[in-house]
Amino acid sequence: MVGRGSNLLVKDEGLEGVVILLRGPLAGMAQEKPDPSVSNLRAHDMTVHAGAGLPIVDLLIHCRDSGYGGLEFLAGIPGTVGGAVAMNAGAFGKEIGDRVKEINVITTGGDVVATNRSQLKFSYRALHMEKKSVIIGACLKVETEDVKTIANKIAGYLKRRKKSQPIEYPSAGSVFKNPPNDYAGRLIEHAGLKGKKIGGAMISEKHANYIVNTGDATAKDILELLSLTQEKVRKETGVKLEPEIKVVGR
Ligand SMILES: Cc1cc2nc3c(=O)[nH]c(=O)nc-3n(C[C@H](O)[C@H](O)[C@H](O)COP(=O)(O)OP(=O)(O)OC[C@H]3O[C@@H](n4cnc5c(N)ncnc54)[C@H](O)[C@@H]3O)c2cc1C
Repeated sequence: MVGRGSNLLVKDEGLEGVVILLRGPLAGMAQEKPDPSVSNLRAHDMTVHAGAGLPIVDLLIHCRDSGYGGLEFLAGIPGTVGGAVAMNAGAFGKEIGDRVKEINVITTGGDVVATNRSQLKFSYRALHMEKKSVIIGACLKVETEDVKTIANKIAGYLKRRKKSQPIEYPSAGSVFKNPPNDYAGRLIEHAGLKGKKIGGAMISEKHANYIVNTGDATAKDILELLSLTQEKVRKETGVKLEPEIKVVGR
C-alpha cells in the first residue's frame, strides 16, 4: 500500500510486486453529519468521512472551508488520510489517532469491515492492524469553528514548520522516532552529525533528524547515512534510534 510515499524510502532496485494506490471514490470526502453519539449540549461535534486516498492537504482545505476545526495540526504533513492513519501521523503534540472515530478496512480475506475507535490500537507513529489489510476510509472527529480561526491556525503551523524543517529539499520527513523523553534530532546534533554527507544524502543543517536529498542521492546513500547515524548516536549516548521511515524494495 502506498499513500503518497511521503514516509517511504524505496531501495534502488525498486519494488517487486504490486503497488496499490487508492483513487476515485476512495480518495474523496463523504457527507458530514452531526455526531449522533454526543448530546445536544455539544452540538458542535461533527464527523467527517474521508476516503483513505484523499491527500491530507485536500482534507484540510475542505475542513477549513466548511468550518470544521481540530485537524489543523496536520498542516504541512504530506500524504494521504490512509497513510496518516496507518502511521498515526502527528505534530506539535497531537496525533491523528486521537481524532479517529472509525476506519473502514479491507481485510486480507477480502471483507470490508468498519472498525470502531475502541477496537483500534494507536501508538507513537503506528496503528496496530492486520498486516497487509487496506484502510479505505476514516471517520474523523471535528468541531464546528470559525473559518478564519481555522485558517489562522493552519498558517501558524505551516510557519513553524517552515522555520524548523528543511522543506526546500526532498526528504521522507523525520528519519528516526523520538526516543522516550528525548528528541532524535537533539541526539544526532549532539553526535556532531549535522551536515554529514554520503553521496547525495545529507543530514540537514536545519533539522538533524532529516536526511535530505541534495540532488542525486541514491537509496543506498541514505541507508548508509542512516546506519552511520544509528551507530554514532549509540556509541555516544547508548540510545538505539529506531527508524520512523519505512524502507521497502530490493
Ligand atoms: C517534509 C515531510 C514532513 C513530514 N512531517 C511529518 C510530521 O510532522 N508528522 C508525521 O507523523 N509524519 C511526517 N512526515 C511523514 C509522512 O508524511 C507521514 O507519515 C504520512 O502520514 C505518510 O502518508 P502517505 O500517505 O504518504 O503514506 P506512505 O508514505 O505512502 O505510507 C506510509 C505507510 O503507511 C502504509 N499505508 C499507506 N496508505 C495505507 C492504506 N490506505 N492502508 C494501509 N496502509 C497504508 C504504507 O504501506 C506504509 O507502510 C513527513 C514527511 C515529509 C516528507
